[in-house]
Amino acid sequence: MTHTLTQLVANPSCMDDYHPDAMPVAQARLFIKQFLSAVTQTQILPVRECMGRVLAADIFSAANVPNYDNSAMDGYAFNSKDMHAKSPTKLIIIGTILAGNTTANKIEAGQCARIMTGGMMPHGADTVIMQEKVKVDGDYITFTDALKPNMNVRFAGEDLQVGQIVLTSGHLIRAADLGLLASLGISQISVYRKLKVAFFSTGDELASLGDTLKKGQVYDSNRYSLYGMLSRFALEVIDMGAIPDDLKLLEDTLLSAAKQADVVITSGGVSVGEADYMKLLLAKHGHVMFWKIAMKPGRPLAYGKIGQAHYFGLPGNPVAVMVTFYQFVREALLILMGQTTPAPLPIFKVICAENIKKQTGRTEFQRGILFFDTDGTWKVKPTGAQGSAMLSSMSLANCFIVLDQTVGNLDAGSLVSVQVLHGLD
Ligand code: AMP
Ligand code: MG
Repeated sequence: MTHTLTQLVANPSCMDDYHPDAMPVAQARLFIKQFLSAVTQTQILPVRECMGRVLAADIFSAANVPNYDNSAMDGYAFNSKDMHAKSPTKLIIIGTILAGNTTANKIEAGQCARIMTGGMMPHGADTVIMQEKVKVDGDYITFTDALKPNMNVRFAGEDLQVGQIVLTSGHLIRAADLGLLASLGISQISVYRKLKVAFFSTGDELASLGDTLKKGQVYDSNRYSLYGMLSRFALEVIDMGAIPDDLKLLEDTLLSAAKQADVVITSGGVSVGEADYMKLLLAKHGHVMFWKIAMKPGRPLAYGKIGQAHYFGLPGNPVAVMVTFYQFVREALLILMGQTTPAPLPIFKVICAENIKKQTGRTEFQRGILFFDTDGTWKVKPTGAQGSAMLSSMSLANCFIVLDQTVGNLDAGSLVSVQVLHGLD
């Protein structure tokens, strides 16, 4: 895939296997991917402000974690050489080590130290026995358990070793990473700047919230679901409003969006074969490919560039907007944000508890509900009516049931693929 976007737009047939009228989902994804590269500017930020951002430099460990050998239990630290194989082991307690004690302690043969979780291991000790396993009698403990040497000890560097790469550039920062960075004493890191994403809805029929709905109008819901989906990423979101089907207004909005944002997303007005303003404008100002994707919902989709900005033209139907966002836009945003290899949304197979209606020939993303069945396993069922304008089906759903092109009607009890939306939606 070495063609430029300009070549592709001018002459789509220069690519083998290019089907603008029945573009398979996976192929469209690959096409888009070849034009994506991460933003370049970086900034240094306090760790807590980096949630969801992408690392712009490798992080090395400046110290061992943990930094010292310490006990994993409340118990007694001793030397495993003092353990008797056949008779009970008896040791004298010479002191107590609490977590946070910073003075080094030492034990000799036949001795032990009472030690709390996180307490620094005394010199001479290599093992800890948990307190529940010993009998305390005055200054002595006895126990019969045969412990493996090093049991219940956390050794310096066993989590991370000094000098080791802990997180690589291109890694998306999550909650565990904030803790990991803190455990290394790192208070600020270099991340890619926030990606700017502008979006607007198109259509003469759109009413905005606060307006009274006239006959023939619908409220603009796409801008709200898009806002919600985009809010899940650490992005700068720019809402450009609902724009009527007016050439001048659309042109101004499109150019303004492309000027200020890295990514422009629109909904509506990109149906293939339909003459409308968006297509005219995109042809005039950008290099944009229009596809009929072999999927349902989400058939019309456009991708390309307007100046420096990446452009995604999503269908108008409210469910199709969400489906195409998850299948095409999500991964693209992550790559542009700097993530080296975004993990695809996991897909796994479960039993479908109900019959499924489906025509062969295109991939369907039916809205599904994963539920815990009385037999103790997770199953899935469709949400009911699957119209691509029915947002309620999306609201009820916690997953997509992904049905491949070759699949037709299915009986209850069939294994189907599901893609979980939990945490994304
Ligand atoms: P279009 O792709 O512009 O032909 O729109 C397809 C369908 O989606 C039409 O029924 C539109 O009314 C509907 N639609 C388009 N944009 C929106 C929007 N922002 N909110 C709700 N419905 C929309
Ligand atoms: Mg429209």
